[in-house]
Amino acid sequence: MQAEAEQGPDAERARIDALVEAAREFGQRGWTPATSGNYSVRLDDGGILVTRSGADKRKLQRADLMRLDAEGRPQEDARPSAETLLHVQIYRRDPSAQAVLHVHSPAATVMSRRSIAAGKLRLENYELLKALRGIDTHAAAVELPIVANDQDMTRLAAAVQPWLERPGALPAYLIEGHGIYTWGSSVAEAARHLEALDFILECELLETR
Ligand SMILES: [Zn+2]
Repeated sequence: MQAEAEQGPDAERARIDALVEAAREFGQRGWTPATSGNYSVRLDDGGILVTRSGADKRKLQRADLMRLDAEGRPQEDARPSAETLLHVQIYRRDPSAQAVLHVHSPAATVMSRRSIAAGKLRLENYELLKALRGIDTHAAAVELPIVANDQDMTRLAAAVQPWLERPGALPAYLIEGHGIYTWGSSVAEAARHLEALDFILECELLETR
């Protein structure tokens, strides 16, 4: 993955390139079947670049991304991903967020179904927890939120909101029977969060089989 500077036109271009590259890689892993999943980056002017509805994420191109303003209103004549509101919500809540990644990986999908009754999944004593922002030891325990799925994005966002407001909230959550959202202060950090959490969820799945 390409190195990303923080700001400026070159940095913005590098961020977009890194997003396209990450989308193709996650597609190769089978995390975005049947045009599912969606991705976005924050633009320097405060707007958001998000995947268009129906784009094949495995072969994502720059042209499959469309511009929205900070409130999520399309700035082009195209339809953004149906879940755009969830991206806007994250950027609004976390000023450090520069990229949001959402995939339908099997491990995230299955574990979200298994643990929905508890409304969260406790993850502890995994070396890879150190890949998450602010965690520097395996001897940590984190709570990965799980919200019920909903086709009404306003209701879904309302269910997510209390989790985002918790102090020390993880930059990630699961949606039941659906998938995982992660974000970070760069595409690379968001991708690291996604890869680490998916690995841990797969471990949980193997252990509880
Ligand atoms: Zn989805």
